Amino acid sequence: MTIVRYAPSPTGRIHLGNARPALLNWFFARAHGGQYVLRMDDTDLARSTRESADGIELDLAWLGITPSMLVRQSERTALYDAAVAKLKASGRLYPAYETEGELDRRRKRARALGKPPIYDRAALNLTDADRAKLEAEGRKPHWRFRLDGKPVQFDDLIKGPQTVNTASMSDPVLVRGDGSYLYTLPSVVDDIDLAITHVIRGEDHVSNTGTQIEIFEALGGAVPQFAHHNLLTDAEGQGFSKRLGSLSISDLRDQGYEAIAVAIMATLTGTALPIEAYTSLDEIAQKLAFSAISHGPARFDPAELDSLNARILHAMSYETARPRLAKLGLEGEDLWLLLRNNLAKFDDVAEWAKLITGPVASVIADEDREFIAIARDLLPAEPWSLDTWAQWTDALKTATGRKGKTLFLPLRMALTGRHDGPELKSLLPLVGRKACLDRLL
Ligand code: GLU
Repeated sequence: MTIVRYAPSPTGRIHLGNARPALLNWFFARAHGGQYVLRMDDTDLARSTRESADGIELDLAWLGITPSMLVRQSERTALYDAAVAKLKASGRLYPAYETEGELDRRRKRARALGKPPIYDRAALNLTDADRAKLEAEGRKPHWRFRLDGKPVQFDDLIKGPQTVNTASMSDPVLVRGDGSYLYTLPSVVDDIDLAITHVIRGEDHVSNTGTQIEIFEALGGAVPQFAHHNLLTDAEGQGFSKRLGSLSISDLRDQGYEAIAVAIMATLTGTALPIEAYTSLDEIAQKLAFSAISHGPARFDPAELDSLNARILHAMSYETARPRLAKLGLEGEDLWLLLRNNLAKFDDVAEWAKLITGPVASVIADEDREFIAIARDLLPAEPWSLDTWAQWTDALKTATGRKGKTLFLPLRMALTGRHDGPELKSLLPLVGRKACLDRLL
């Protein structure tokens, strides 16, 4: 059984860049008939909020993701405590007492000597008496994981074979002085406990993976397979920040973008697949293989989101649009098929529908008054069909000698009050003779 997890830290709402791993995990679960665990990485009690966590659930639901299970790390401390006991017993976790200031000074000194600024493991040399003395002074230890120092190798399903040299890394702190957990250990403990088979996440986690594989092994857990994807960047090549408002998923929703358009942009940007107007996540899940994800950065182009959103609407069936039209008090397949090609956002349809239902601020230039008066007289009798426009304009051509733009534009301006818009041939029968007569006055 394939089991994946998406593990956001609920310290704010998720943005387009976070939607990438959320969806890539979803695609993988769908393509393999697997399960999708939503794991709230909320061990940072000062920054995590329930409000953010609930918001993230809403954002995922809007995107079309329905997790099989939700877990909160804040409710799983007992599991982490047990893992800590195990690592302490095997000597892999050791107490260290340095303050931030001390560590900082040591890093500076190492740099000045041309050495890498990694933790010198001074705490490993402390005797029981040293520790007792430090604790008597009121110091509380934080706990570091003793790295093996051997290169850790793994076959990344996206990036190919990887080697992480833990010898060049500081022993990571797993437990803070106040007893709270940093991200590293709970993540591994949960991946073991929830039998996660595949960890799909951003490539900013590759070096963490080296550390985490050592922890998996130290805890005797099965090491999952890893897939690290390229990160989405903004148009300038900068990473997204959670606090950057405009590209949060909830803001994109409020701006009226289609969820599928957002999902397509979040996942297909920076892949070998063209950005196309897919209609479902499953369709993308079938197409997007890990081998199609490029190794370079994935640069998000906001103009492409706009054009994709429009393309999705222009191809949307009436069946799909119908319930959403009903919410706007609109209905009718003819109306939808006529108006959809003008839409940038779905709700624009309400504005366009006024061309049919009115009121329309008709525009008639002085030099066209006489022409429009003739047009009004020549307006064919009902019943109207798609042929009515041609009958009417042919008659007008004969009567006035006008043709091309001088014939059509004054009619469009009078009937709709604007230069552009839907095809008049189809609009006419939907407006009806009576309303047209009113607009030609
Ligand atoms: N909470 C971590 C993050 O948001 C999860 C990383 C992971 O998937 O292990 O980056």
